[in-house]
Amino acid sequence: MIEDEEIEKNLRDLDNICDECKEEDESVSQNLILMGFKICKSCRTSKTIFPL
Ligand SMILES: [Zn+2]
Repeated sequence: MIEDEEIEKNLRDLDNICDECKEEDESVSQNLILMGFKICKSCRTSKTIFPL
């Protein structure tokens, strides 16, 4: 399972810092796994409502 190895590698590198707002939030890691974007839930919400 190559994909699982990639996810584990990403998790090890993870610092939970949002790429958008640079805030630290535990939702950053969840969004990275779910969507492939390293963003917090508030940035995710604003992207969902106002996609750029
Ligand atoms: Zn953010």
